[in-house]
Amino acid sequence: MGAIEGETRLTDPRIILKPGREKSIRQRHPWIFSGAIQEIVGSPGMGDTVDVFDRQGGWLARAGYSPYSQISARIWTWRESETVDEEFFVRAICRAAENRSALKTYTTGIRLVNAENDGLPGLIVDTYDGYLVIQLLSAGAEHWRKEILRAVSQLPNVKGVFERSDVEVRHKEGLPPALGVLLGQEPPQRIVMAEGDWKFLVDVRQGHKTGFYLDQRENRSALARWISQNLRGKEILNVFSYTGAFAVVAYTSGAGYVLNVDSSEAALSFLPEHYSLNGIRPAQDGFLAGNAFEVLRGFRDQGRAFDMIILDPPKLAQSQRGLTKATRAYKDINWLSMRLLRPNGYLASFSCSGLVDEDLFQKILFSASLDAGRDVQIIERLGQPMDHPVRLSFPEGKYLKGFICRIA
Ligand code: SAH
Repeated sequence: MGAIEGETRLTDPRIILKPGREKSIRQRHPWIFSGAIQEIVGSPGMGDTVDVFDRQGGWLARAGYSPYSQISARIWTWRESETVDEEFFVRAICRAAENRSALKTYTTGIRLVNAENDGLPGLIVDTYDGYLVIQLLSAGAEHWRKEILRAVSQLPNVKGVFERSDVEVRHKEGLPPALGVLLGQEPPQRIVMAEGDWKFLVDVRQGHKTGFYLDQRENRSALARWISQNLRGKEILNVFSYTGAFAVVAYTSGAGYVLNVDSSEAALSFLPEHYSLNGIRPAQDGFLAGNAFEVLRGFRDQGRAFDMIILDPPKLAQSQRGLTKATRAYKDINWLSMRLLRPNGYLASFSCSGLVDEDLFQKILFSASLDAGRDVQIIERLGQPMDHPVRLSFPEGKYLKGFICRIA
């Protein structure tokens, strides 16, 4: 109390920002870019907690230091009295998990911690039927590995904790990939999770992300509704199918035939088990391993037609520099798909590139419709479910968007 400004409060190690660069921090954006830093005092190590000050010595935040990344620090707290310690992680992780409790009656696959959007930069925690899968994606999260592990193990009904920190961003942080069981039971090769009346298979060792696309949960329900109301007995092309979650949804909603296209044979190999688990017995085989761009072009040349096409490509825009190329790629698959649709067909088109916002995506679809020569209406807008919240101070948290369109 009564400490003289700039005396006792100037703790080491600390980061001092360039004049003006404190603005985004005051607005609670959690990233401090290397270009915003005037000076680093003391010698913080990888992941160490540093206090962040403005040029005048005003305390701003407490952050985890990432010496090798363009994002030099990620903020843990904007409260000067809050210490970053095990208790901090217990509090934040429990709060995030509790915020999802309404989902528990519907599904056993939930994202419990969504990194920056839950105030925990670089930390992802997903649960699949009690098997937690965690990703430590920043130097700060890595630094607190033991404490985070203890905190997540206190969550209710945890069977085991598995790490999937084998992702590219770890490299940018100067961290080696890490994968394997951290605690408790080893997860089965294919975990079965429930979502409504569906059962989905999750391979947490080799699957994409932490094993499954939890972020498409609400969009699966939306598609189920459209298919059961409008597409009973009809033919659906599921492009970028991964393990066929949308195909399960389509068949159980009354679709007549679903053709899945994916470049990964490993992902397609889940289809038979996925179908039998959900009581689906397709009349004919429905998968094609290949490059979707070429497959769509081939179908156009053959004059193939479908009643609905689902397009859920991987993140095509990885960087601002690659945005033009990505825009072209999105347009390509969308105009080809519009071409392949029978009159009054449906296109469910997604983009998970954060750099392509909803406005731009809509413009891409417009441009695709002109090239396809088809009149297109948006009939439903889709986004992220509640366990993938977007913190308003962190617009980067919004990445998934989709449109269900009717193609005249
Ligand atoms: N719709 C899926 C998720 C799709 S993720 C679901 O709801 O579960 C994107 C998928 O695209 C991945 O399975 C990946 O293997 C596949 N993929 C990536 N590039 C591809 C390409 N050029 N052609 C076909 N599939 C591709």
